[in-house]
Amino acid sequence: SQFSIYTEEMRKKVVERMDIHQFLLKSLESQAILEIKKQFELFFQPIIELRKNHRGKWIINHIDAEALIRWHHPEKGLLLPGQFIPIAEETGIISLLGTWVLYAAADTLNEWKKLGLAKPSISINLSPVQFNNTDIKQTIEKIAESRNIDTEHITLEITENVVMADPISSIKKMKEIRQMGIHFSLDDFGTGYSSLNYIKTFPFSVLKIDRSFIKDMENNQYDRAIIKSIISLANELSLKTIAEGVETPRQLNFLLEEGCNNIQGYIFSKPRDSHSFLHFVQNFLGKEISELD
Ligand code: C2E
Ligand code: MG
Ligand code: MG
Ligand code: MG
Repeated sequence: SQFSIYTEEMRKKVVERMDIHQFLLKSLESQAILEIKKQFELFFQPIIELRKNHRGKWIINHIDAEALIRWHHPEKGLLLPGQFIPIAEETGIISLLGTWVLYAAADTLNEWKKLGLAKPSISINLSPVQFNNTDIKQTIEKIAESRNIDTEHITLEITENVVMADPISSIKKMKEIRQMGIHFSLDDFGTGYSSLNYIKTFPFSVLKIDRSFIKDMENNQYDRAIIKSIISLANELSLKTIAEGVETPRQLNFLLEEGCNNIQGYIFSKPRDSHSFLHFVQNFLGKEISELD
């Protein structure tokens, strides 16, 4: 019956979750840490900055990247962050994994620089636990020194709920890290509990409009209104806006017309491995967006 299929599905999910849990716990044994690190990889999704050329055509002016973690699990294959980051947070393993992500992103940035890539910045997602319960400032200091990175080209993405948990101490922490050159980006904006008016007291450089507003905007006038007001407020506060999850030319056109010219989404590219990201930049930097005519 349908009911038993449903419970079988649920049982599988619980078993699956326990498997991943067990596997992450095993990684705490020092010997296994080295092994498990070999199984993780950072993918990079292009963040496209568009600009109008002298003929009034939109061209790809600059390309940055968001680092998105992937796990090549020996038995389960490729796992997405949604399948293991929440468990890593519950078990505390996230601080280990998060530190690995920061080092890997720093190394990639240097690699790209060596290859002569036109100065992309890398955005890195910070988990709530990583931001609130670890000495993130010290970790970043260590990385900046040992890897000699261009700190202006690193952006840390955090969500509004993370900073709203303890606004005073968050602002202090962020300002100290910002002084090292590193930028902050407000991820998934609009899904949490804060107002832009309040958020302006935090040292954010970038605001990312959450995909949920972009997804339905073609059919939903409220989403369009929200997007418009986020863009105009952000402009007034001198924050750069990035639209997340842009998939269609109509969404792209609307965003460009409203003044948001930083676009991340499948319309340009899915997340790719570092090698393939380089190819993307080489092929598309400076190109005209002809589909928009
Ligand atoms: P996020 O930071 O909001 O990242 C954007 C997510 O949206 C990515 O999913 C990306 O693949 C997806 N996306 C981008 N454009 C489109 C689009 O046009 N259509 C659709 N359907 N999806 C799009 P991903 O890679 O599965 O990551 C999910 C979340 O996992 C991230 O959301 C972030 O919160 C978290 N995450 C990823 N990497 C890390 C990491 O290294 N550390 C931590 N703590 N969290 C991470
Ligand atoms: Mg993000
Ligand atoms: Mg996001
Ligand atoms: Mg998101």
